[in-house]
Amino acid sequence: MKTLIAANWKMHKTRAEARRTAQAVADGAPRGTDRSLIVFPPFTAVAEVAAVFAGREGLAVGGQDVYPAEKGAFTGEISPAMLADAGATWVLTGHSERRRVLGESDALVGRKTAFALDAGLNVMLCIGETLEEREAGTLEEVLRRQLREGLAGVAADAAATRAAVAYEPVWAIGTGKVAGCAEVLEAHALTRRLLAEILGPAADAVPLLYGGSVKPDNAAALLALDNVNGLLIGGASLEAESFLRIAEAR
Ligand code: PEP
Repeated sequence: MKTLIAANWKMHKTRAEARRTAQAVADGAPRGTDRSLIVFPPFTAVAEVAAVFAGREGLAVGGQDVYPAEKGAFTGEISPAMLADAGATWVLTGHSERRRVLGESDALVGRKTAFALDAGLNVMLCIGETLEEREAGTLEEVLRRQLREGLAGVAADAAATRAAVAYEPVWAIGTGKVAGCAEVLEAHALTRRLLAEILGPAADAVPLLYGGSVKPDNAAALLALDNVNGLLIGGASLEAESFLRIAEAR
């Protein structure tokens, strides 16, 4: 399985800034390695990044969100076909900021995931517990619910070939608090087991990424852990230099 190193630019970068950063990523990206880099820019910059990455193996672009309909009266939303038309091959679903700031339910995240997979995109489903949920001892319950509902209606073969799961503890996102290796190891083993409950043997083929305050100096230790098949990076992905250092960390 290829290691996936993904950049979530959130609501940052004009088109010109996105183009510059994407070009620096493309210029510095390791060639011919076992790593794939995926950049999730804001919608306005998807086509810009796709144009820079065109023809480069191991570099891909994705949308940060998607709406589960082909077209229609959904003001402010974007369809899988529109993302693909702009050059996206990936999309994020269920990022904690969409769940918590925009109020997305597990059921809506599941509809988005299934619809985007059916439309031919690769989907990175984000899951993760809050600090209160962790302290209440409900980690397993939360991840099971998010995975069951997030993958409802997803066929095992589609998940095995075009889905990834990013475990991002909410308390570690943008806080500078990276989960400890023992916590990541435990949560990823749990995620793999829960995926097997849902998908059967296909679960083994689904890349599991860790996200939450990943930086160049902690990336290698995280990537060395069992069941960590990649990283999803927010803040430290905004500069090409630090994103590339993470992409090369071993
Ligand atoms: C994220 O937004 O998915 C994320 C992991 O952010 P950060 O790396 O800034 O914690």
